[in-house]
Amino acid sequence: MIEPTIEPTIEQTIEQTIEPTTEPVSLYIHIPFCKSKCNYCDFLSFAHEDDKIDEYITALVAEIRSYHSLLRNNIVKSIFIGGGTPSVIEAKYIESIMKEIKENFNLEPTAEITIECNPGTISREKGTIYKILGINRISLGLQAVDNERLKHLGRIHTFEEFAQNFNMLREIGYDNINVDLMFGLPNQTLGEWKETLKQVLILNPEHISVYGLLVEEDTPYYSQYQQKKWELPDEEIERTMYWYANECLAQKGYEHYEISNYSKKGFSCKHNKVYWTLGKYIGIGLGAASYYDQIRMDNTRNIDQYMNAQGDLNEIISNKAPSTIIAQKEEFMFLGLRLMEGISKKDYLNKFNQKIEEQYGEVVFDLIKQDLLIEEGDRLSLTNKGIDISNYVLAKFIL
Ligand code: SF4
Repeated sequence: MIEPTIEPTIEQTIEQTIEPTTEPVSLYIHIPFCKSKCNYCDFLSFAHEDDKIDEYITALVAEIRSYHSLLRNNIVKSIFIGGGTPSVIEAKYIESIMKEIKENFNLEPTAEITIECNPGTISREKGTIYKILGINRISLGLQAVDNERLKHLGRIHTFEEFAQNFNMLREIGYDNINVDLMFGLPNQTLGEWKETLKQVLILNPEHISVYGLLVEEDTPYYSQYQQKKWELPDEEIERTMYWYANECLAQKGYEHYEISNYSKKGFSCKHNKVYWTLGKYIGIGLGAASYYDQIRMDNTRNIDQYMNAQGDLNEIISNKAPSTIIAQKEEFMFLGLRLMEGISKKDYLNKFNQKIEEQYGEVVFDLIKQDLLIEEGDRLSLTNKGIDISNYVLAKFIL
């Protein structure tokens, strides 16, 4: 009798193709719930689905457990609890997530542990519990300081509520806080943007992220924009806003370390740096992405399927493929060049056993000639002109 062939499960495939190592790893935990949906947002998050929170967290905790055998020897250097709005769910859920992580993995005592919070969903009690759990970095969504603007964006809070939350988090003892801001908003003037920066700098956060608005399909902003209900600032003003922020933040002692990120000395985001330098990370939760031993994995984006899987990676992981050498070279370049320090040619040689010039000689030569890239010693990085058209420059490294 012929024995039927039994296909290996994803867990078995992972175990066979990915050996546990003692290398550092980062964890991303996705909480896809929000109080209401912002008008510009196309992130994987849901409003008014609170009845699913309990079941979702049970499934998420089960997924954490499923990674025990793969990650048992890794040192977890950073955790990012993002969303959605992780602070919208009760603190007991964050407690069970952190408990499960500590029980299953080697969490470095000095690991950077961030939670994303939105004003209007955070309380003194939640902030205090997060601190006890070892969370040492808070990322606060603000986007703008004008209350009419916040309403237009669909945010659920005022600037005053944000400032109260910020000061409360300081009182609890957080000394590493990021504030997210957006520019290039509908009909926004340079004056309004200057005021946003001025007010935020008074609070003196350790880290500021500054993103230009992208009008994404399937958002209320997309249809409003199509119907010409408002206009975006023209490109010249948008760029002036970016460089104004750059100058203003530099004057206040912030280091510009990535195209959209600024920090006080020693406060750059360790977790995000893992993404930009092709480090190992495992994404846990709905739609989360992972990169481990040159294998890319994506979790399902279907919440019912995710919850029904109850931690079974075979059901959760919807896409798993080894990253080709070509893809690794492309990512090395276009992720690494997002950092202001750029990429090291020596690192490229060590990683790919090939001189960078052999693969990208012509591209690099042309970009340097156009003053979009600069070569300094071992490093290649974007010039200011290159930052302005970074999408164009980075696309040149696609093979
Ligand atoms: S709070 Fe963040 S994740 Fe939630 S809807 Fe607004 S932008 Fe999206």
